[in-house]
This record gives sequence, C-alpha cells and structure tokens, in this order.
Amino acid sequence: MSNKTQEREVKQQLPESVSRSLEVVIDYLWNDERRDFVGQPNTEHVFRALVMVDGWLFGHRRRAEEYVGRGDYFGVCPVCRTSDGYLNVGRDHWFVCHEHGLRWCAGSNLFSSWKGQAEAEWQANWRRIEACREIEPVCGDRGGEVEEESGK
Ligand SMILES: [Zn+2]
Repeated sequence: MSNKTQEREVKQQLPESVSRSLEVVIDYLWNDERRDFVGQPNTEHVFRALVMVDGWLFGHRRRAEEYVGRGDYFGVCPVCRTSDGYLNVGRDHWFVCHEHGLRWCAGSNLFSSWKGQAEAEWQANWRRIEACREIEPVCGDRGGEVEEESGK
C-alpha cells in the first residue's frame, strides 16, 4: 500500500473537522516542541507524540529524530558529532559531550527548564561539567535553515 493510499484511508476514517483540527494542533506545537526536543530528547517528549500522530494522519513512519537533523541545531561535539544534551547553570544552557570532555554554551533562556530549578541544582550541574574543556561547537545541519543554493 502506497503512502498516498494510506493517507487517504486514515483521513477517511475521521470526520473532516477532526482531521483538520489535528493538523492545526500539530502545526501550532511543531516548531516549539521540535526545538525543545533537540535539547531534551527524552523518550516521553511530546514531540514524539506529535510525530506519531502526524505519521498516522499522513501515512509516514518517520521518527522524531529525523526531524531534528543530526540533533546539532545547538551545536555538536566536533569529535563524535553528537551531544549528551544540556544542563542549566542559572539561565545558561551548557551542552556537553561527556565522552570527549567538551562543553559549549548554547545561550541563555532558550529553554524554560531553568526557571523551575534551584541554585543548588545549578551548582551540581556546574560541578559535572566544570572540568570539561569549553569549545566552539560544530554546527552543521541547522534543521530547515540549510543552504541549498550553493553551486549551480
Ligand atoms: Zn563527543
């Protein structure tokens, strides 16, 4: 069964108002949650649910990871081209690669997670990454901002 056939069939099972509402909800949440997912790719992240519903609605089987490039929107370790996610130190978000002992600051107040944390938690986070070497991260595929004009 082709994707097109599957898409038609799934949508026919739903009242048109329901499938249209699902599309609106997905569109509304997509970009914010995708950005949040890059920083915290938890198994329970709501972006996975969005991708799941989107796939069911439109007949694809893509995984959430496929929508965030290689996860390097906020930079990756230049050695292994991944990261272990970020830790907050105050309002600063430090991404880290524990394996290679590297860290880089992605910015401040990009994710709201820091607001619910206590000073002691930030100090504990800093102790975990303090010994890592601060680097400039490698930024490759920036998820949708990739230049495709080069070379004609
Ligand atoms: Zn690494």
